[in-house]
Amino acid sequence: MLKNEEDQDQASSSTNNMSQLWTALWSQKVPNKIKQFLWWVCNNALPVKTNLVHRKVILDATCDECLGASETITHALWTCPFAKQVWSLEKSLAELRQLTVHSVTELVWYILEVSTTMDIEIFAVIAWAIWQRRNSLKFQVTSESPDQVYHRALDLLQEFRNAHVSQNILAQSYIPCAWHPPPTGVMKINFDGAMFKEENAAGIGVIVRSDTDDPIATLSKKIALPHSVEAIEAIESYSFVHIKRQGNAAAHFLARKAKDLLIANMRLDSLPQDIIPVLAFVS
Ligand SMILES: [Zn+2]
Repeated sequence: MLKNEEDQDQASSSTNNMSQLWTALWSQKVPNKIKQFLWWVCNNALPVKTNLVHRKVILDATCDECLGASETITHALWTCPFAKQVWSLEKSLAELRQLTVHSVTELVWYILEVSTTMDIEIFAVIAWAIWQRRNSLKFQVTSESPDQVYHRALDLLQEFRNAHVSQNILAQSYIPCAWHPPPTGVMKINFDGAMFKEENAAGIGVIVRSDTDDPIATLSKKIALPHSVEAIEAIESYSFVHIKRQGNAAAHFLARKAKDLLIANMRLDSLPQDIIPVLAFVS
């Protein structure tokens, strides 16, 4: 009974560890395929030769690179002489090479949990590049040198990080434009139009608000296209300040709403219920 409880505790602890590992790996800024790769590594799920022998796919597990040991994941990615040459080029991971470990998973845990200087993203891309080079051996006459593998890994990481920075700059350049209330005692009118080409019609949305953001009146109206020249000239004779659509969300909503209206919807005493979420969103 005690033994069973111990087994259950260990299983539960192991599940928690793997869950933590998954969360930690997935938060890294490397391509998703490399996160997935590292997850497979830590779950002994790569098709190295020992795993293929275990599944009776092949009979011989000898490493094709060095011919000196069975190809486990740890051998292919860490202890094979070729892999060691690649890792020796990354000085920031020198401490890692001094450790006595039994698996690549232990290395990953060490970097994530113990080390304060080592970068799991660098580790991940180098391991990935070694694995890719190992897979390409079957198809290529000439293979990459340790130096080429190492630099391909760093180039991949740099490229990914550059793209990530560009995306952040783009995201930061989008500054939402909120609705701003008018000065005290002044009414602000927001106006917007929407085209319904298939109906040869347009919608007009108007909302009048005070400095307290309380809507005084709203209007949704569908009008026929094209306007008369006089109508266009009349609108143009007024002075309008053009604002971004994000700051004009309520008027835009009313203009779009006009599409389904047969008669103009003008409210002076109460708001259309469906505009309330829009107002809550923009204020
Ligand atoms: Zn080897």
